[in-house]
Amino acid sequence: MTATAQSAEEHGAAEQLAAMPEDWSRALAIVAHPDDLEYGAAAAVAEWTARGKEVTYLLATRGEAGIDTMEPAEAARVREAEQRASAQVVGVAEVEFLDHRDGVLEEGPALRRDIAAAIRRHRPELVLTINHHDTWGDAPGSPWNTPDHRALGRSVLDAVGDAGNRWIFSDQLETDGVLPWAGVRWVAVAASPAVTHAVQVGEEAARKGLASLLEHRAYIAALTDEDPEAYARSIVYGGLDRYGHRNGGRRSVGFELHAR
Ligand SMILES: [Zn+2]
Repeated sequence: MTATAQSAEEHGAAEQLAAMPEDWSRALAIVAHPDDLEYGAAAAVAEWTARGKEVTYLLATRGEAGIDTMEPAEAARVREAEQRASAQVVGVAEVEFLDHRDGVLEEGPALRRDIAAAIRRHRPELVLTINHHDTWGDAPGSPWNTPDHRALGRSVLDAVGDAGNRWIFSDQLETDGVLPWAGVRWVAVAASPAVTHAVQVGEEAARKGLASLLEHRAYIAALTDEDPEAYARSIVYGGLDRYGHRNGGRRSVGFELHAR
């Protein structure tokens, strides 16, 4: 994700957002790359884990194609470590990687299969993912989204259904001893141009959200000449204030929520 991603929503009217559901205990956040959650959603994750909810991260790739000046093998190692550190900051103990290739994710059964397996193992009530729409904003000419985000987000929305159907990817049930899981009640899409719901974020969670983005040191250093702290603060607090504008003026993270 880049700073331009944050232009989503900017022009929107101050139409108020609904409150995110709170009656759940386990969430699985599934994204394409290290940093996808830290550009905004991580502050909500910090708020949730502080309230005792369990959140696990699943990444389709290690973001090895994300640093122009670094060879992919090295970038994969660096970015995995940065992702694990940033997860820890917001109270996420478990981070899994699926080993798909960065930049060439394809929407379809291969990706859905791996995501469904993870949903069946973790049995979340809430699944979190990243903007799967073509663009970051809803205005004509908005910045184009990346192919990985589009493929990943759409595959997540599909895999939630797959996970509950014992006749889809049924070999997982025989070989891995897992059961179908139809208990996902919502899928929340972060950084969407079509936000519907918001979760209010307190001072501590906002601070952790910022700290979690700052853990992506190598990535940010390669991305911008700006001071990393100033850069990360403008992204994280900019987003919280923008969604807060649509949630009674309280700093918030916005999501496009699909109920099931
Ligand atoms: Zn990404």
